Amino acid sequence: MEKMEGCGPSECRFDSYRGHMNLSTPIEEIPRIGPAYQKRLKKLGIKTIRDLLFHFPHRYEDFSDIIPISQVREGGPFCFQGEVLDIKNIRTFRKRMMLTQMIIADETGKLKVMWFNQPYLINTFKKGDFLCLAGKVNGKGSLMYLSNPAYEKIENWKLKIENSDLTHTGRLIPIYPETEGMSSRWLRFIIKPLLTKIKDGIPETLPEEIRKEQDLLPIKTAVWQIHFPDTLEKAELSKKRFVFEELFDLALAILREKIKLAKEKATIIPINLELIKKFIQKLPFKLTLDQKKSAWQILKDLEKVRPMNRLLDGDVGSGKTVVATIAVLNAVKAGFQTAFMAPTEILAKQHFKTINGLLKGFKVKIGLITGKENFFDSKKIKRKEMIDKTKNGEVDILIGTHALVQEKVEFKKLGLVIIDEQHRFGIEQRARLCHKGYGGQAKLIPHFLSMSATPIPRTLALTIYGDLDLSLIKEMPKGRKKIITKVIPPEKRQEAYDFIRSEVQSGRQVFVICPRIEPNELGEEAIASSLPFARLRLARVADVKAVKQEYEKLRKDVFPDLNVGMLHGKMKTEEKEKALTDFRERKTDILVSTSVIEVGIDFPNAAIMMIEGSDKFGLAQLHQFRGRVGRGEHQSYCFLFSEFRSNPRLKAMVVSQDGFELAEKDLKLRGPGDLTGQRQWGFPDFVMASLKNIELVEKTREAAKKILTKDPELKKYPLLRGKLEEFREKIHLE
Ligand code: ADP
Ligand code: MG
Repeated sequence: MEKMEGCGPSECRFDSYRGHMNLSTPIEEIPRIGPAYQKRLKKLGIKTIRDLLFHFPHRYEDFSDIIPISQVREGGPFCFQGEVLDIKNIRTFRKRMMLTQMIIADETGKLKVMWFNQPYLINTFKKGDFLCLAGKVNGKGSLMYLSNPAYEKIENWKLKIENSDLTHTGRLIPIYPETEGMSSRWLRFIIKPLLTKIKDGIPETLPEEIRKEQDLLPIKTAVWQIHFPDTLEKAELSKKRFVFEELFDLALAILREKIKLAKEKATIIPINLELIKKFIQKLPFKLTLDQKKSAWQILKDLEKVRPMNRLLDGDVGSGKTVVATIAVLNAVKAGFQTAFMAPTEILAKQHFKTINGLLKGFKVKIGLITGKENFFDSKKIKRKEMIDKTKNGEVDILIGTHALVQEKVEFKKLGLVIIDEQHRFGIEQRARLCHKGYGGQAKLIPHFLSMSATPIPRTLALTIYGDLDLSLIKEMPKGRKKIITKVIPPEKRQEAYDFIRSEVQSGRQVFVICPRIEPNELGEEAIASSLPFARLRLARVADVKAVKQEYEKLRKDVFPDLNVGMLHGKMKTEEKEKALTDFRERKTDILVSTSVIEVGIDFPNAAIMMIEGSDKFGLAQLHQFRGRVGRGEHQSYCFLFSEFRSNPRLKAMVVSQDGFELAEKDLKLRGPGDLTGQRQWGFPDFVMASLKNIELVEKTREAAKKILTKDPELKKYPLLRGKLEEFREKIHLE
């Protein structure tokens, strides 16, 4: 712990802070923050004073009621003020513990105060000091003592003390989300003086008319009151302002994007009904009603001069690929090229294969471009060749990873862009691809289709995907059986293994997912798995270790009679390829993999999903994992291995298979105040939370519309405009 003496009101004056400080001052320049704390803050993404001041508490401890000592009794917490009569350190013999014992008194009585194992406190206080203390009281009568209280020294106590002079006691005390090595006390100690100093330097970022109309607190008041509220109502009002602002900014960013796009022009791609009918007839299955509807909506969009900007949203396994392929075929046969981008190499290859299969006999030239390999018409070719063929129009469909957006890749006549499993905020990738307009007619931009398995209710979609039109596939292909989901406690493990063996013996295959070793890094992973491009980089040593261990265990001890394979991000492309091919060709029965294995992977013969350490995963991830089985005609199972008797998330998994329902359940389980900062379902938690408050979502959208109608360029709001630019930048980098 860094030194923290002198926690009286004097600290608020911040005499030691010289020089000019403003919101963008880096934390390194704040005198009280040493290197160790700088590191911890940065871990939380706090780099500047602004970040610090906008690091909000998640709850408050109410110490605002200061009572006379005579009224203190067992229980509490109580808060009171008094003078130090005596202080000493005592070593207990039995437990070898150090006790700091203090006697404190006011005009109504005396009370013993004890701190355990903080002997240094003896140097913090001395006889005659005036303190404000808050904490729980143990024991009765003469044995009564206040234990480990929060404390604060009050200077000039003969003057009247105002609550606002206090930081840790005698008021509503902010409690910040638990973060390793940074106590709430320390954060208060840092934040309060900064607030005092910077207060006037916090510019208002909401347009005044919106703020007044919605009756929201001004930013200066709100920042102060969210940290050190006078009343809980004020804290609530401050929170309300910031939630409104977040959603308002988001709505504004999205609407601006939409306006921009509406000004652009695309080529009309007419519907070739004969062709589409022929394609559908040749499919080995019947399209679901939702698939047909979605395909029709997309085809109708392609006919318009306004560029299509549509999201195809459907739960894992709902059959989005075939819908996209219909659009691709229509565009290609009308003489346009199509770019089809997938988040990972494995997925790009899978699409290459699938689409090749689906379009067999339609004489379409399909290319695959990844960071490492390129295929044209199923033959391996050089990268340079691939780029040439794309440029001169020989390639009809170019499927690929982010290699597709590289500058060198140019199209002759790009008419349609499809991005699979794209995170909502891939605005930048989209822009880059879409502006690969073609050749001389660069003014015409391609139609755009994005695909996602993020379950999202329509109302919410309007806000976060407000610039996109939406096609929903809610219905699963016919004949899919419900995936039987079970929580497996340790004592049932053997039974589960036996069952798995018998399933394998009757021809099925099994996925095993291992969690990463450090559970606290799951958050990162959740973020990464919602961000297609981050996922590429996400091959962590810890994952690999967990997978290797599990692989060895299953191969040697549990299933020595079966073929076990392994897949993780640190493997070479060829090795990964081989692991997947072996699995596809049923050379392996069981594939052990990390949790970052692609969401879109499609193996109809895999019927069992076994998840180790399932308690460590969020509901969204568990649902995604489960979506990798149950894709064929076989009865499928999902086994959630768990150490705990009852985990509400796992229970939810057992009960429901509907991604939309699970997303809402997750929200309820976590509660609106319980925002972890982790991205579970692919968008920020505060947006998730706003699901509960659709009214607010609509209000913010209306407000954003109002501002943009009057001032589309935001000329009157340079601050807001700057913030949005930053926002745009941030959302695609995160
Ligand atoms: P996702 O929506 O998760 O991307 P896919 O497009 O990978 O799903 O489809 C999952 C599986 O379902 C594939 O094997 C696909 O061939 C199959 N499929 C798609 N549509 C239907 C349908 N209407 N009937 C039966 N199977 C279908
Ligand atoms: Mg898919």
